Amino acid sequence: MGTHIESNELLEMSYAEELAARGVSRRKFLKFCTAITAAMGLPAGMVAKVAETIANPQRPPVIWLHFQECTGCTESLLRATHPTVESLVLDVISLDYSETLSTAAGHQVEEALHASVEKNAGKFILVVEGSIPTAENGIYCKIGGRTAMEIMADIGPKAGAVVAIGSCASWGGVQSSGPNPTGAQGIHEVFTDKPVINLPGCPASPYNLLSTVLYYLTLGKLPQLDSKNRPLFAYGKLIHENCERRPHFDAGRFAQQFGDAGHRQGWCLYKLGCKGPETYANCPSILYGDVGSGAWPVGTGHPCFGCSEEGVGFTKAIHEQANVFTVRPPSLYPEVEPTQGKGLGVGAAAVVGAAAGIAIGASVATAKKTKEADQSSSTES
Ligand code: SF4
Repeated sequence: MGTHIESNELLEMSYAEELAARGVSRRKFLKFCTAITAAMGLPAGMVAKVAETIANPQRPPVIWLHFQECTGCTESLLRATHPTVESLVLDVISLDYSETLSTAAGHQVEEALHASVEKNAGKFILVVEGSIPTAENGIYCKIGGRTAMEIMADIGPKAGAVVAIGSCASWGGVQSSGPNPTGAQGIHEVFTDKPVINLPGCPASPYNLLSTVLYYLTLGKLPQLDSKNRPLFAYGKLIHENCERRPHFDAGRFAQQFGDAGHRQGWCLYKLGCKGPETYANCPSILYGDVGSGAWPVGTGHPCFGCSEEGVGFTKAIHEQANVFTVRPPSLYPEVEPTQGKGLGVGAAAVVGAAAGIAIGASVATAKKTKEADQSSSTES
């Protein structure tokens, strides 16, 4: 049967053999674990524990609900060119219920949902994609005869942890922009029984989902969150702080129009409406789609739209200039890679992780410098 491997054969293999069957060597797997450990802000000593967590055959059950959304977050997880993230996410969790991936339909799939919720009450991770329409008692989104509000009120309290994936689930997303006729809201605004971890983005990065779940499984606790319940390891820095075009911003080299000489030379997109200076996310460090360097909006020449930031994405006009929160240049700039078009793969992911580590170090150094400068100016005055 060529390279085809029967599923029952896979079950009998060790995890290393499983990976080898998929073309992922042990070395590449460990490099990936190193990268993802760095991306979570954990010390290098935790790499072995993270690898152990991924390889653990005891996988936590996950129920993935879809409400008012376009399924783009699921698509971005499943359509990675290189299958690493998708297969690792599906290795780490046991996806018991997903309307997109389920082959069952109608009553069968409803029964599968209820059976999984009852069997795993208090233990399953609930991932919710999409906002909840609240106008007119939620009639704008009904699944199996129940509104999204009713489904969330029924299933949410039985979950061990709740993750809102994407901007729609995190704060309402495009549906909530004015005039918001359906009364769309983020999950945490409707469901207040327990904390909801927000992973905004349109789409959200699958790496951030994998890192959040891995953090929870490895350390047995939720990662540190910011005031908007986003993991700090992923949303602790402005895009502007780690952007490869930042040296151009600090040198005053701006593209003035799409296609002009500055745009073609990769200059800063601030004057074209880039929202990187007011948007918190790790897009420049982890990129998208596993297709190599430059695979994120600014890398392809389009201004950041601010999709992950409430009050910016889907709210401010695309051409509108961003509020600049950090005007001082960093002491270390992100590397500008001259070569384009290489697949990210697990090896390159390690480099990304290292780059993220350097960027975090640079930001710490900048903060220290800024603090010192502030202290000396206050002493002088
Ligand atoms: Fe990058 Fe946008 Fe900041 Fe310019 S304004 S450095 S393109 S994030």
